Amino acid sequence: EKKVVLITGCSSGIGLSLAVRLASEPSKTFKVYATMRNLAKKERLLECVKDLHQGTLEILQMDVTDRQSIMQAKDMIVEKRVDILVCNAGVGLVGPLEVQHLDSMRHILEVNLLGTIQTIQAFLSEMKARRQGHILVTGSTGGLHGLPFNDMYCASKFAIEGACESLAVLLQHFNIHVSLIECGPVNTDFLVNLQKAELGDPSLQQVDTQTLSLYEKYLQHCSSVFQNAAQDTEDIVKVFLTAIQSSSPALRYFTGSVVPPLTDPKLTQPDGLQYIRAMSKIIFSSEEQ
Ligand code: NAD
Repeated sequence: EKKVVLITGCSSGIGLSLAVRLASEPSKTFKVYATMRNLAKKERLLECVKDLHQGTLEILQMDVTDRQSIMQAKDMIVEKRVDILVCNAGVGLVGPLEVQHLDSMRHILEVNLLGTIQTIQAFLSEMKARRQGHILVTGSTGGLHGLPFNDMYCASKFAIEGACESLAVLLQHFNIHVSLIECGPVNTDFLVNLQKAELGDPSLQQVDTQTLSLYEKYLQHCSSVFQNAAQDTEDIVKVFLTAIQSSSPALRYFTGSVVPPLTDPKLTQPDGLQYIRAMSKIIFSSEEQ
């Protein structure tokens, strides 16, 4: 019997790569429901998966901020169960906090936090009843440590950590596993899709010059990190596969080498001062301290 997988946010990036990989397994182990908010974007997925997906791939519409659309997608699952739920849909928001509109801040929480939680909610009762399931969430190093100019993104991703860790404690009693796949920078459409204040935007006129100069440094740092250290989605998919294939999956998997030096001071120095200094040095280097 095939394992039934449902993935959110499959029109690009990590979700697309994972859907392609699982649906093209030669052993046909998985039946993949690749969901996306906008079905008009399904061509890219279909091109990538070619003709390797006979009987292993269905594409469904699902907007994770819309409960009805989640329920409609759920109704379309012919097996009437999901063995592996991958909550991957997410958006970014970058810029000085004082210029962020309430609507943008609400939106990122709607998608990243409530979207993830609503999706889990929709499938939780059945998983509990069957005493089986694996919930995987695309996490971020921005959910483990703060990043300047990413206040709301980090807030949304930290919140997911709390929700998943809390659920994991309970769900082990139901033989349901929760795994966060913690990614550093990944080459996807994320940077294109994210809402970013550009230098020169009228909205930045009200921002003080010191913040703007630090923001400029942040943007340079960010583009060089993405150019030099970003992973490909295939690397991330490998980590998903490790988690999916494990008989006792962990709560957290790390996809790259970027994490430990930054999380270490958080664990060893809980007052946070060392972390704040280290991060500031990494991002703003020359000017600080
Ligand atoms: P991406 O922009 O290519 O993919 C995100 C997907 O989510 C898109 O297909 C988008 O259409 C979809 N989406 C957005 N709002 C949605 C909604 N309301 N309902 C359903 N789908 C929606 O970027 P990605 O890098 O593949 O992002 C996937 C996940 O990885 C996100 O949760 C992101 O936070 C996380 N992540 C990405 C990076 C990175 O550097 N790319 C790093 C850490 C974590």
